[in-house]
Amino acid sequence: MKRAFGYRSEQRKRSENQDSFGVFDFDGYTLAIVCDGMGGHVGGAQASSLAVRTVHDCIEELAAGGDYPEALRVALERANQAIYEAARKNHRLMGMGTTAVAAILTGEGFVHIAHVGDSRAYLINEGQAVQVTRDHTMVNLFVDAELLTPEDAATHPEAHVLSRSLGVERQVEVELSDPIELADNDVVLLCSDGVHGVVTDWELGSIDWAAPEPGVKHVLDIVDAREGDDNATAVAILIGDAPGMGTSPVPDPKSIDAQVAALRDEAQIQMMDDYESASDPDSYRTEPSAPPREDLPSTPSYLDEEPEPPSPRETQTIGTSVDEPVPDQKQATPRPLQRGKDEKLKKKKKGASPARLLVPLGVIGLMAIVSLGAIAFLTRPDPTDEDESTIIVDGDPSNVRPKPGTEPIDPAVPEPDDSFFRARIPDPPRRLPHRPLRYTQPPPRGQSQFVAVQAARDHKCAESLDAVQEAMALSPDHAKLYSQAWFCFQESHARQLVNSKVENYEQFAELESHFRGWPEFGDPEDLEWTAEDKRLPLWYRPARDGVEYRLEAWASSSEDDLMREVMIDLKGEPSIADDFAADVLVEAQAAVALSRAEPRTPDIEEAWARRVYVVSSALKGRVGKLLRTHRPELVPQLEEMLETATTAQAEGPAVPGNIAKAHKVGTGEEPPPTIVVRPGPKVDPLGEEPDLGPEPGGTKVKGKIYK
Ligand code: CA
Repeated sequence: MKRAFGYRSEQRKRSENQDSFGVFDFDGYTLAIVCDGMGGHVGGAQASSLAVRTVHDCIEELAAGGDYPEALRVALERANQAIYEAARKNHRLMGMGTTAVAAILTGEGFVHIAHVGDSRAYLINEGQAVQVTRDHTMVNLFVDAELLTPEDAATHPEAHVLSRSLGVERQVEVELSDPIELADNDVVLLCSDGVHGVVTDWELGSIDWAAPEPGVKHVLDIVDAREGDDNATAVAILIGDAPGMGTSPVPDPKSIDAQVAALRDEAQIQMMDDYESASDPDSYRTEPSAPPREDLPSTPSYLDEEPEPPSPRETQTIGTSVDEPVPDQKQATPRPLQRGKDEKLKKKKKGASPARLLVPLGVIGLMAIVSLGAIAFLTRPDPTDEDESTIIVDGDPSNVRPKPGTEPIDPAVPEPDDSFFRARIPDPPRRLPHRPLRYTQPPPRGQSQFVAVQAARDHKCAESLDAVQEAMALSPDHAKLYSQAWFCFQESHARQLVNSKVENYEQFAELESHFRGWPEFGDPEDLEWTAEDKRLPLWYRPARDGVEYRLEAWASSSEDDLMREVMIDLKGEPSIADDFAADVLVEAQAAVALSRAEPRTPDIEEAWARRVYVVSSALKGRVGKLLRTHRPELVPQLEEMLETATTAQAEGPAVPGNIAKAHKVGTGEEPPPTIVVRPGPKVDPLGEEPDLGPEPGGTKVKGKIYK
């Protein structure tokens, strides 16, 4: 994947440039980083250049295994440590710190982003700039705590006070963004607040990014025109074949320090002007409030330590840059991107592509089943794969989350053996991060809000969703709560199902609560069916929680229900479709597995019928519509699985009657086994919605009423 660089850092009206940045090519990936330092007249530049330097120096070792997010996290933690230690050893540097936003663009075409503080990453595509990172500022903490509205936060006098930064405390929590798959002509833009505080997202999107260097220049011209007074730094990487700058030099904290020392000697000023560095040496002699130069350390104490020998890469970068034409940025000492490198990147792409699964869905390896033709006998343990048996029922969600960059996934990989199959979900199409346009006001305080949040925290997703529904009746501004409820489903149930491997029915039953909120057999003690529910077949009874509750709530929401509108606004319809695609695919896989399980028991048949009903009704209804729009490639797969799950095998036993019944009810061919007396089954002329129940006074969904 070809890429072109553009970068620029301007001191603006400040007395020194405390921003540092870098764009570095490594074998198979590119690292870009922007840091905005603070703290004293020396400290800020020291901290930011030390951060860039540290990340540069350690990333190769850390990224060797291909786990780029982890590499970024550890690299920023090391930078934190380096700055913290340096400040501790030199009281003049005390309190120095820096923001950092770092991106790794992989040969496979993904970008991984980590950040601390308020320097930002944007993804710019087709005229739209999407902010990928969220600033670590105090006001954002207040917004999260619903003490401040986003609008008030934006204009808050202390909007720039950071809640996290590198080097100020011994430990730092690095935030990793979801990896994003890049496409041609995408621009990854990293910038300090001197840029994003002045230039709007809209402007960032509307600039001509045909080439990154003029693009960056345009951005800084806007800063200039608005007389932005902060240091302004922007680094842009364009995906595609375009003219660009070479990689940047590695900033040298020592040289900054040396400059400071040298400045004590006025005679050396001229020499310093010629010095190319990521930090402007001039800054140190024009600071009116700078401490007397005698006070400045000749060398900070940490520099007394034996310096590490420069890495070969650094030598190369600096060495090859000397004779290269220098663009008009004074900090830039470019080295042209070598063709060989591009070639290498391309080659790499052909190999195993670990990053490909990073996408929200990840890979669903559920039930030991998958390829339709082959048979997964639930009751037959797989002798070859004992140690991989990873059923996570109520474990820490983080244990189940597919680790970005580490999954050895290739959809074309042949199935391991004929006794079990690992599910493969085709990667969702590329998704841009979504930012809600509306519904961002914090809700008024109230009982519903409390219940919704508390329930979500207790992993009672259905209860949380119900409370949100109630709260929505009070004001649409309760919308933010929706994302909380949705997140609860995702964390409590969907993740547990993703990547689970099941080898027998007992193990499957343990996962039931994640499907529908209660075990298939041996109902929990606090589960009380209503008299009406009891008259329904087990497979048709409402879900109490789990991904099926979410599916039902979505499918049954009425037109004036704000849920869909709000969730789409908060998450974006493609992302919602991805969530449902995972839910339905898991259901379908379960249906296939259960249909092949032997010996058949009533429990298995009920569980099987349930899955058949859920998949067929989902495909027929609103969820199916979402999938056809956003995940059309999955629909034939789901239909084939449904077919497999409802068809007897060549020499196998017949398909039980309740399976066929569940299928027909799901597809609308037969009326639902409702027990409420009504004039007749509701026929949807548009054929888009399964009839899930009676609806006098609202849409009644098997015991739940949504108004
Ligand atoms: Ca700044």
